[in-house]
Amino acid sequence: MRTHFNAIIVVILAIFSSLAYAINEEIAPESATGTRQAPIVSAQHQLVVSAHPLATQAGYNVLQRGGSAVDAAVAVQAMLTLVEPQSSGIGGGAFMLYWDKSTQQLTAFDGRETAPAAADKNLFLTPEGTPINWWDAMVGGRSVGTPGVLAMLELSQQQYGKQPWASLFDDAINTAESGFNVSPRLHQLLASKINPGLGRYPEARQYFFTSEGEPLAEGHRLSNPALASSLRQIAQQGASALYQGTLGEQVIAAVKQATDNPGKLQRSDLQNYRAITRQAICRPFRHYRVCGFPPPTSGGITTLQIIKLMALAESQPQQSGSVAFYHLLTQASRLAYADRARYLADSDFIDVPVDALLDDHYLQQRSQLISPLKDMGQAMPGELPQQISQADDQSPELPSTSHFVIVDQWGNAVSMTSSIEMAFGSTLMAGGFLLNNQLTDFSFIAEKDGKPVANRVQANKRPRSSMSPIMVFDEQNQLVAALGSPGGSRIINYVAKNLYLKLSTDISLQAAFNSPHVVNRNGVTELEADTLAEQLAAPLAALGHQTKIKDQNSGLHGFFRQADGTWKSAIDPRREGSAVGD
Ligand code: GLU
Repeated sequence: MRTHFNAIIVVILAIFSSLAYAINEEIAPESATGTRQAPIVSAQHQLVVSAHPLATQAGYNVLQRGGSAVDAAVAVQAMLTLVEPQSSGIGGGAFMLYWDKSTQQLTAFDGRETAPAAADKNLFLTPEGTPINWWDAMVGGRSVGTPGVLAMLELSQQQYGKQPWASLFDDAINTAESGFNVSPRLHQLLASKINPGLGRYPEARQYFFTSEGEPLAEGHRLSNPALASSLRQIAQQGASALYQGTLGEQVIAAVKQATDNPGKLQRSDLQNYRAITRQAICRPFRHYRVCGFPPPTSGGITTLQIIKLMALAESQPQQSGSVAFYHLLTQASRLAYADRARYLADSDFIDVPVDALLDDHYLQQRSQLISPLKDMGQAMPGELPQQISQADDQSPELPSTSHFVIVDQWGNAVSMTSSIEMAFGSTLMAGGFLLNNQLTDFSFIAEKDGKPVANRVQANKRPRSSMSPIMVFDEQNQLVAALGSPGGSRIINYVAKNLYLKLSTDISLQAAFNSPHVVNRNGVTELEADTLAEQLAAPLAALGHQTKIKDQNSGLHGFFRQADGTWKSAIDPRREGSAVGD
């Protein structure tokens, strides 16, 4: 099998060698929405990489004042709420991996939204019992989960912060008052009406559009006094301003006022919300140890499955850009996404067989299903030792979300993915910030063929996510890399692709980020539009793939430790990210 694989790859590579060579270069793909390469930063001491220059700067200012990585994370998130409102904010949820250098402790802080206590399996069903149209479900109160990011940041900052909590909001409050320039991306997302519900409710309509109904222009100076006031309350009272205080009342009022699609969120849901400290999931990969986030996100398990399946099925580490690489990636992804659909959900509600899914023998067997000769077609989930009678999930996730990484002068680090789910979330606003629509990450149907779906709606449960904050360690247990991305359920593919390439070949993390995306979530093979991936259509079709050319909205941010000990940033050219460090 192995030798056979080798021979086939040699033939394919020979045929498409010019293509493979071209994609292998450090090129930034051009796309209709525009790509740009932000300057790469090498830092000896401390570094912040985030999706917006003002957020990066706010985090870096905190580091310079002697703040820790977690302190800086609070400042970055506060600023992102203002300047990248479409993607994340204090009305949403997040997962943070935190590495504490001095105690060598890795902690997974879970700030995922929860379903209201009053929610049940009928949340997204019509009175006749059929699933509601996804777009109808998303806009308004129904999809709003209890926001978790603020509680999670407070929990982590109480343990690992060095600066006074209140000081971490200064930059965001000042900028909310003085205003910031609407970025090209924010303008484009408004103009493209990516979220059809934006404009339905007065707060968001008045904030994001002119009185003539035009989307705010690029460069428009936008201030947000309501958010400045909310952040001031949070700075002074802590997260309880949201969970116990008047800010919470505003959130509930917004949810209730959406009478065209009311939600079930109550004050008591906010009062009862708890961020959770979990154990990261770490597995060896080549000479490294790769750590991801456990359920309720599928990100950690599925990413680890993909890279391990690739390593088991390869004849030798595959280079970026080759047809063989992309074929291997899609096949491993098919298998991993099949398991994800069947087995993964909030482990506080469902028995998630984490060890069985990452077991070497199990993965070895699964990897035998990968052929270099042809696409396997739709993969079935694997059979696990423990009988689990569940049906497959159906929950679309659409791209918004933000990922940032921070390392401080003591070597502590944060890798955090934060989200309000769809761009502009539920489109409801309270206190100057958008409320999430994260509950649409649940499966709308609760059972199929008499079998329960793991990711069904249940009271107080956290919807399954795809967010994949990652950290990588070397054999001495020293931090080597941190990375992650937005992108809905494609996140896992983006992260796995780049992890595999960086840890298997001598490509730089930046070059890996720049290389075209090819995604398969156990269906069509999607080739990134306006990149050299389009040229993979013919060779992949020859292997039996059904292909489709599509924009791939990743927003990968990360850093990698160089041989001399410096941290080198990597920034997705597809977004507006930046890095600052020293
Ligand atoms: N809601 C998605 C999740 O939790 C993230 C959405 C996105 O990345 O765009 O996985």
